[in-house]
Amino acid sequence: MNYDRAFFDAGIDRAGTQSVKWAARGIMQEGMVPLWVADMDFRAPACVLEALHARVEHGVFGYAVPPEGLMEAIGGMNRIVYSAQNAGNLPGQQVRVEGGPPTGDAAADEAYDGAGATHSLYKDVYNRDSIDGNGARLDSTVHYRVGYDNAFWNGQQMVYGDGDEDLAVAERLFNRFTIAIDIIGHELTHAVTQFTANLVYQGQSGALNESMSDVFGSLVKQRNLGQTAAEADWIIGEGLFTSRVNSLVDAAESRGMYAIVDFHTLTPGDPTYNLANAKTFFQNVATRNASKKNVIYEITNEPNGVSWSTIRAYANEVIPVIRAADPDAVIIVGTPGWSSLGVSGNGPASDVINNKLSFPNVMYAFHFYAASHGDNYRSVLQQTASQLPMFVTVNVPPWTSSGANVFDRAR
Ligand SMILES: [Zn+2]
Repeated sequence: MNYDRAFFDAGIDRAGTQSVKWAARGIMQEGMVPLWVADMDFRAPACVLEALHARVEHGVFGYAVPPEGLMEAIGGMNRIVYSAQNAGNLPGQQVRVEGGPPTGDAAADEAYDGAGATHSLYKDVYNRDSIDGNGARLDSTVHYRVGYDNAFWNGQQMVYGDGDEDLAVAERLFNRFTIAIDIIGHELTHAVTQFTANLVYQGQSGALNESMSDVFGSLVKQRNLGQTAAEADWIIGEGLFTSRVNSLVDAAESRGMYAIVDFHTLTPGDPTYNLANAKTFFQNVATRNASKKNVIYEITNEPNGVSWSTIRAYANEVIPVIRAADPDAVIIVGTPGWSSLGVSGNGPASDVINNKLSFPNVMYAFHFYAASHGDNYRSVLQQTASQLPMFVTVNVPPWTSSGANVFDRAR
């Protein structure tokens, strides 16, 4: 029964005396005294105790688990975690209720804690009472199906898969989906959106729906870690991938192939925006792969909206990090205008040619989109290649057939 006391204390601390009076009224109106309050200590306001004693004297006893309406009246949160036991039925078997002790099942406890952290963010920071603004209970089901690589809000509750638990450890690419608290915040924010703006999940409104979930998912994580927005990494789903994601490099090596490890900087197009993350990423990757001969690092893929001087400043920060771990690997640096040598914007190419990097073993990226890029791109590449080591890291035929002979262009 201790969990109920913990809950009730939390409810009082959080909501104050007024809400507790409501709760007392709720008890009176419901005509029942939940058994759990018998264990409550005298920190509860006298009005509540009076109400309870009145009911006890009348011999009315209620539920061992607090009735839903009462929990909500107190202003606390109310979570239930179920296990689908690797089947597809929802919600499944109840494994933890509000205030209950940890189950020892990591997925169930993470779902419980993550729902709590999300509820607290909305309640404490935005004064929003749960996902619907009206104290809705947060139901979560873990262990959904077998080998289920996703998490989702189904319109009524949270559902989490276990990732690749059905595969041998060495084969697993995904961990369980409760492992990242920002994923939990992300999915529950879909519920907040459903109860508020109800953005249609397609096109621009769908993108906005996703973006809202990413932002609030990140906020849940930041609050949990005690970080400011500036300190946070804003990475979604960290920990979701197993270390097997690195094994793709090994697989390429064993087949005698090169592997390019690139860092995407499409949005925002300024690579310095994520400079600290890029340094951490390349330090990890270069340390792991230092002894390999097949790894090439592409430190900024398609920078855009910035001049060569910005990209160059970024490269001067990141290249020494790679070199410290892996002194002789080839490093490719993106060029202005989505790696077009500035032909698509932020040029001209002479900016790069006249102010190249001073490190050895560095190449410059060129991306050729055969459907839209023509002779002017090819001629700039040709002129530049006589003065800088160029590497065409992307060469794309069109996604839709236009009838033009673009495969020849690509060749
Ligand atoms: Zn989403």
